[in-house]
Amino acid sequence: MTHAGRAQPTGGAAAIAEAIARGARSPQQIVDDTFARAHEARAGADGLNAFLWSDERVVRDQAAALEKRLASGDAGPLSGVPVVVKDNIATLDSPTTCGSRILENYRSPFEATAISRLRDAGAVVVAKTNLDEFAMGSSTEYSAFGRTKHPLDARLVPGGSSGGSAAAVAAGITPIGLGSETGGSVRQPAAFCGIVGVKPTYGRVSRYGLVAFASSLDQIGVLGATVDDAALALQTIAGPDPQDATTRDVPVPDYRQALTSLDGVVIGRPREYYPEQLDREIAERCDRALDHCRALGATVRDVSLPSTDLAIPVYYIIAPAEASSNLARFDGVRYGLRVADDGLRAMYEATRSRGFGPEVSRRILLGTYVLSAGYYDAYYAKAMQVRSLIARDFTAVFSSGIDVLFTPTTPTPAFAAGSKTDPYDMYLSDVFTVTANLAGIPALSLPIGRVRGLPVGGQILAPHFAEQRMFGVAQALERALGSEADR
Ligand code: GLN
Repeated sequence: MTHAGRAQPTGGAAAIAEAIARGARSPQQIVDDTFARAHEARAGADGLNAFLWSDERVVRDQAAALEKRLASGDAGPLSGVPVVVKDNIATLDSPTTCGSRILENYRSPFEATAISRLRDAGAVVVAKTNLDEFAMGSSTEYSAFGRTKHPLDARLVPGGSSGGSAAAVAAGITPIGLGSETGGSVRQPAAFCGIVGVKPTYGRVSRYGLVAFASSLDQIGVLGATVDDAALALQTIAGPDPQDATTRDVPVPDYRQALTSLDGVVIGRPREYYPEQLDREIAERCDRALDHCRALGATVRDVSLPSTDLAIPVYYIIAPAEASSNLARFDGVRYGLRVADDGLRAMYEATRSRGFGPEVSRRILLGTYVLSAGYYDAYYAKAMQVRSLIARDFTAVFSSGIDVLFTPTTPTPAFAAGSKTDPYDMYLSDVFTVTANLAGIPALSLPIGRVRGLPVGGQILAPHFAEQRMFGVAQALERALGSEADR
């Protein structure tokens, strides 16, 4: 059986960096091991199809450069740690395709800030990973380059849109992956694959070099085999960046400080996230996790976030609206694909029709419609108003003495590929995750057990820039659950 969930054949990011710093292992050895694991897990197109690009020569060049740095005494907190990167984050030494024909073979002339920070810390990018085209989707089935498979069962989806990174980390290939979050694309695949996924506060991580989907919601997020791996990755990439004016100059504390007790911590259990029709076994896994929190000293209080049921409709107006505007730049002139036709308009049309897949086209049409003069007030303006109500719900509970909220990450475990043919069904897999993006708050998913043999996630939501508290609670819960997270 392939490794999934909490199995850590990699030994964890901190342990790798420590072994490298001590000279017990070399970056080239780590690369050897990583490629051996990728081979064994069949990460490529003939297997999981998690990787869209991985070039051993390029990866070895990175390891060689790192060896020079190490020889001069320059070891970083992620020295030699192999990472995988979702293919909508710009890298210099490999293509950045966004899982789309329109950017097939496209190479970015610059690198994302998150990538430069990972490299400065000593990390080695070993692969670019598969995703739903332009990060639009919840299953990684909407990639132009074929779907990614769930590491535990190839008939299932790994979740999405960061499904390639999630599958690679769950299969034990690397301890850390980068993904992107617009409405749950890191947390949902993390939950499906049995690993940790984090969406930081809006403005916590630079979006420079992240190909824009919906700019007011987008953040780069991290996937980790454990809470510690995710914490280490996030604190490396977090912090202000002059290249992204929406980043905030808020200090980045140590996210790796585990809480050993939850004494005095008040956890809110929002009733809207535990509806009658919620899968009973998922509800039971959440109850068990909350029992552990109580045993650690936490108080659990029932709370209400009354605007929650409006989140999906609001998200599916705002996200497509922003997407339709952001994706206007792919016109056959400035980037990637060009399909020549008779005249400029015809060229635009042919390029975009051929270059974009059905889900991306659907979102562009929907977004253009809700932004059009006759409908703007009825849809977009209204959605923006409701978005502030959703944000206000969170502000209200967090100012009423609640430290963090605990919810299921998804309403179901991983589903079968091809089973969601109605787009609206697919959209509903995000009911518990889109709210954090709409409100801009941080959220983390960690494995809390299995349901019918498949991993499920529990979600911890915290106030803006309270990532340290969120990680502390997650770390304590992860320890308390121990091997129960696999049952
Ligand atoms: N599944 C959601 C969507 O399709 C969220 C995607 C994301 O977070 N990038 O829009």
